[in-house]
Amino acid sequence: MSFEALGLNPAILSSITEAGFTAPTPVQEQSIPLALEGHDLMVSAQTGSGKTAAFMLPSLSRQVEGSPLRATGVRVLVLTPTRELAQQVSDATRVYGKNLNWLRTATVVGGMPYGAQIRSLARRVDVLVATPGRLLDHVQAGRVNLSEVETLVLDEADRMLDMGFIDDIEAIVARTPATRQTLLFSATLDGTIAKLAARMMRDPKRVEV
Ligand code: AMP
Repeated sequence: MSFEALGLNPAILSSITEAGFTAPTPVQEQSIPLALEGHDLMVSAQTGSGKTAAFMLPSLSRQVEGSPLRATGVRVLVLTPTRELAQQVSDATRVYGKNLNWLRTATVVGGMPYGAQIRSLARRVDVLVATPGRLLDHVQAGRVNLSEVETLVLDEADRMLDMGFIDDIEAIVARTPATRQTLLFSATLDGTIAKLAARMMRDPKRVEV
């Protein structure tokens, strides 16, 4: 199986070729076509499986094919449990979005100063990567508009629940459109995760690799 066969936009394909990826990993092969079709997904995937590209490549590809310059608010929102993971996702987004010259990515995480985050949120942001607590602070202060979110990603959802972020996640999700696509990635898809998914997702497809 090749990346070309998965249906990604050419601008995204060229950035992954430049990144040196030759073939999709199993989680990418199974998740990308479903995500491009607009399905909600529940994916069980470990760190190192290539899960970041599994959600970011189709999310960016769908943006290229929309009207990216007409939007004003965040369209792809990724929630992660930790500052380090948020930084990795942001770095990967810049690699995968290298050929999208309009793309603006911002990162807002706890334990870091507010000033730079407030400044980054004052400009148009296409992809926002955030930890839940700090994002909710910014949302409640009116600094982030989530009413245009098209794709919501819950990365390492099991760890976010373990860390007690459930109420923050619910409050954030409530500010996004009900019509959004939701992609949930987790090491396990057990009862607690399934309950979260049932509340936040519409007819999700399961991917287990
Ligand atoms: P992740 O599981 O998202 O943390 O990714 C683990 C590592 O695999 C990262 O360093 C990615 O750059 C790399 N990676 C992801 N997808 C591929 C691929 N299809 N081919 C080669 N490397 C990849």
